[in-house]
Amino acid sequence: MPDRDVIIIGAGVAGLTCGCLLAQKGLKVLIVEKNQKVGGCCSSFQREGFSFDLSVQSLGECQEGGRIWNLLKKLDLLNDIRFISLEPAREYHFSDQRLVQSSQLETHIENLSRLFSDERKGIAQVYEVLRKSFDEFSRIPLSLNWFDPSSFSSQYPLLSKYKDKTYGELLGEFISNPFLKTILSIRCSYGLLPPEEISVVGMAGIEMSYFSHGVSCVEGRVEELPLKMGEAFEKMKGKIFLGQEVEKILTEKKRAIGIKLKGGQEVTGNVIISNIDAHATFSALLGEDQIPSGFRSKLKGMRPSISYFILYLGIDGGLEELSVPNNEVFPDDPLSKEYEALYENRIPDRAPFYLLAPSNINPSHAPEGKGTLCLSMKAPYHFSRDWDQKVIDQLSQDLIFRASALVPGLNKRILTKAEATPKTIEKWTGNLQGAAYGWAQIPGQSGIHRLQRTTPIPNLFLTGHWTSPGGGIAAVVASGELTAEAIWSKFERGDF
Ligand SMILES: Cc1cc2nc3c(=O)[nH]c(=O)nc-3n(C[C@H](O)[C@H](O)[C@H](O)COP(=O)(O)OP(=O)(O)OC[C@H]3O[C@@H](n4cnc5c(N)ncnc54)[C@H](O)[C@@H]3O)c2cc1C
Repeated sequence: MPDRDVIIIGAGVAGLTCGCLLAQKGLKVLIVEKNQKVGGCCSSFQREGFSFDLSVQSLGECQEGGRIWNLLKKLDLLNDIRFISLEPAREYHFSDQRLVQSSQLETHIENLSRLFSDERKGIAQVYEVLRKSFDEFSRIPLSLNWFDPSSFSSQYPLLSKYKDKTYGELLGEFISNPFLKTILSIRCSYGLLPPEEISVVGMAGIEMSYFSHGVSCVEGRVEELPLKMGEAFEKMKGKIFLGQEVEKILTEKKRAIGIKLKGGQEVTGNVIISNIDAHATFSALLGEDQIPSGFRSKLKGMRPSISYFILYLGIDGGLEELSVPNNEVFPDDPLSKEYEALYENRIPDRAPFYLLAPSNINPSHAPEGKGTLCLSMKAPYHFSRDWDQKVIDQLSQDLIFRASALVPGLNKRILTKAEATPKTIEKWTGNLQGAAYGWAQIPGQSGIHRLQRTTPIPNLFLTGHWTSPGGGIAAVVASGELTAEAIWSKFERGDF
């Protein structure tokens, strides 16, 4: 008899979602996490009396009826985790104007339509395609082998039409004004891709998971979400090993049968679920000789998403000068310039950047009379070999200088600072090159083309942002649910 019904490698939000749902069904589940706490990307840290969220700033699907809200209801956690709604969601700063974006789709469409009245119809059509693609993708059955080519186009017309198309192509179909195209493309940067590369399905996931059931922040620290999920999991008799790294996935006759920890301990299970980086799962933990050559070369040709450089600042005084806590600042250059540089492992001199004031949403992040700021920009892993202090200081100074236009005198108000580079993110999460969202959401890696939850190794499954539907907290909750339901149906059928 195996030691456990299910073993999950990694306690990211997807691993925890999957673990909770399977433990709730009465299965014996073990989650193994290399860090001393659960959460992965969705973590927080303290510095000199200030509290910072490592990466996740805002979440979709948290208001009543949304996917995250529904999960918390199922786990009886609605009284333990509270959300703060953001309206407006964010403000965009161009050199000659500012635009505020609503978190409500109808208001957002109406605001844009007033600014670009000739394009009213096109704006509505773009969002209609995104909404319907998102709905169709959310309706795809849980079965791991659902795909039937003969009925796909009639059942999923939008997915079928746009499955190989980029968002840039969609905009080309319906929008003429170049500045409107820029505004409609801003959110592509959440997928860390330009509109010419991001898939329609990937963009639908990014936009609709935020427009659906509001844009929210967790009250307090963002890691409250995974920490409470971890507690709920343990209450349901789930077991978590913290500070234990999985070194190997054990196989027998080409089937996954268990794991080996770095300390040498082996644990066997009927089902092994990997919530970690897909390269590590197949290359390091399984070994390339265990996977079929076709799958091996497919993986080698796949592209991870890029990463971020983040500067966290604890500052003196409040941040009343910011009318909205989430801000995005753009230079005059076309947005595509940034990606030309990133693909050459450079960060352009005047790269767009995010300026967030988390303590304006969550005052508990800073002591009385003080505030927190989070400045960040996209960064390629190979921008620097070592990401040494000199590189970090240079990038930090540039960001502080540019942010001073919004927060006057910023340089003199800094009380504490910390930084995260793509290397820091890689080390903490194990995600290749600090990839923020798993695989890049290009058409060949999105929607029905995304790496599946099944693997060529029987009894080994995936969950999280390296599989379907993709990155972001709402999406990995969906991934955890999908993997759990598919596995539970196997247990119900008596496959184990
Ligand atoms: C900088 C940044 C900003 C982001 N901003 C947002 C945002 O504002 N909103 C949003 O919704 N999403 C955001 N995201 C994306 C979101 O955080 C991720 O898509 C999501 O959290 C990924 O969850 P996951 O469960 O797939 O895996 P992860 O969070 O990557 O968790 C994987 C876990 O596996 C563990 N692990 C790895 N290797 C091993 C091993 N060998 N043995 C044991 N454990 C192991 C890791 O320590 C980690 O805890 C952001 C991501 C980043 C990096």
